[in-house]
Amino acid sequence: MNKPTTLITDVQDAFPNSYVQAHEQFIRLLPSIALPRESHSFPLTAALSTETVWIGPPEADRVLVLISATHGVEGAVGAAVQHDFLAHLRTRPRLPPHTAILLVFALNPYGFAMSRRCDGDGIDLNRNFVDFKVPLPENPGYLQLMEAIYCPDPERRRRMLDEYRREHGEEAYEIAISGGQYADPHGPFFGGTGPGHGNRTIERIIDHYRLEGRHLAVVDVHSGLGPYGHGELICDHLPEDAGFKTAMQWYGPSAAAPATGESSSVRKEGLLDYRWHTLMQNRGCFVTLEFGTYPIQNLFDVVLNDHCIWKTGDPEAIRKSAAAMREHFCPADGYWRELVLLKARQVIRQALNGLNHE
Ligand SMILES: [Zn+2]
Repeated sequence: MNKPTTLITDVQDAFPNSYVQAHEQFIRLLPSIALPRESHSFPLTAALSTETVWIGPPEADRVLVLISATHGVEGAVGAAVQHDFLAHLRTRPRLPPHTAILLVFALNPYGFAMSRRCDGDGIDLNRNFVDFKVPLPENPGYLQLMEAIYCPDPERRRRMLDEYRREHGEEAYEIAISGGQYADPHGPFFGGTGPGHGNRTIERIIDHYRLEGRHLAVVDVHSGLGPYGHGELICDHLPEDAGFKTAMQWYGPSAAAPATGESSSVRKEGLLDYRWHTLMQNRGCFVTLEFGTYPIQNLFDVVLNDHCIWKTGDPEAIRKSAAAMREHFCPADGYWRELVLLKARQVIRQALNGLNHE
């Protein structure tokens, strides 16, 4: 691909080609940051781990938490945002008073390494934060669509899905597919039957860094949904909650809420957000920074296809699917990548300003 002329000169350097490269870049940059630091590793296997680094005073009562790869394959985008921020801190090692940064790199390292949204147990971590002690949520729409979801012919699959969409409407269609399901472990948007690795890691991170009681600005970086190049701040706090008002104050009208129907995202079960909402109470807010790529039909095509292919286990088909997944969730286009970094820098600034005025 031709190198485009961009406002940010090192755009492509920030975006890793693989989990291994991103991991290496992350670890390598840390020693060059001239601020107090404490890093920690949460291994999944010998080769795969979630990494964290706390930058700033250990007792800081305001913390910006920046998370990548909740959906593994989206880690290329999240890691680029983290890399860009670390590079910025290397040249300008300054933070607002009483403030620390906590970077959570590769919350789902398996999915990042394998170019999948889900983890090694097929769990979509962003549907996994439900109460497993009570009956799991039901998604009758998903069950109705299962035949279409596993249809090996993409054209026919699309026709079947369209039929459902015409009959039930756009929102019901999106909820049926992507709202979360707890019945089909091979399928997409599967919330699991117990806490997944990333869920358990979040608990360990909350404990390890004693996050309870601190003011928190959490930004979870995602990609693949919404208009091409647009970074949407999705706020899943309920409109009556303190976190909702905080998000509106900090991020202004650029924050969109699924609960009020303004967002590209529909209301979903088991989001990572909900765990942080409980933790932060009225001290801060959680936003998903979602970077749009290709149309939603392409999103469903690549993700459904990926689940069909992994079910068959054909290595050549898996390789092709991984490439399609990477392009959907992190387009190679340098201009798209530049927009990601510009928007992320703005959001990080908004979050730090917001925390600073608490
Ligand atoms: Zn995502």
